[in-house]
Amino acid sequence: MLNAHGPGSVQYEITHNLPYDQTTTKETLTKVTNINGTSDNTCKCSSWLEHWKKYGGGSELPKWCAEKGCVQKPEAGAHVQKDSTADRGWYIVPLCSKHNAETGKSLDVSDSTKLVSANVSETCGKK
Ligand SMILES: [Zn+2]
Ligand SMILES: [Zn+2]
Repeated sequence: MLNAHGPGSVQYEITHNLPYDQTTTKETLTKVTNINGTSDNTCKCSSWLEHWKKYGGGSELPKWCAEKGCVQKPEAGAHVQKDSTADRGWYIVPLCSKHNAETGKSLDVSDSTKLVSANVSETCGKK
C-alpha cells in the first residue's frame, strides 16, 4: 500500500456499522477542494482519467469515487487542490459525475486513492 501521508492528511475514526460486525477503523483522509472549471487545461492523454492511471493512479480505475463513503463509479478525473497545506499543486482524482460537478466544494478523499499531479510539464508534457 502506498504511504502518501502528507502534511494535509487528517486521521478520522470511521465506524462501519455492518449488521454482523461493528468495527472502527482509522482511515487517513485528505481534504481537497474541487477546482474543476477554473481552467480549461487539457493534457496529451485521452482523458484526465487516463492521465490518472498512467501517472501513478494504477492500471485499473478504483471501484468507487474517491470521496469517502461514495459508492458511485468514478467517471471523470477531477482537478483538486489540497486544503491545509502549502502545496498549491493541482492533482487529479477519479470522481463520480456528481462529485466531479461540485466545483468549489471540499471533499474528503480516502488515502487509498492516489493524488496524481495534473502538472503536464512534470508528466505527459515532459520533454
Ligand atoms: Zn496527461
Ligand atoms: Zn462521488
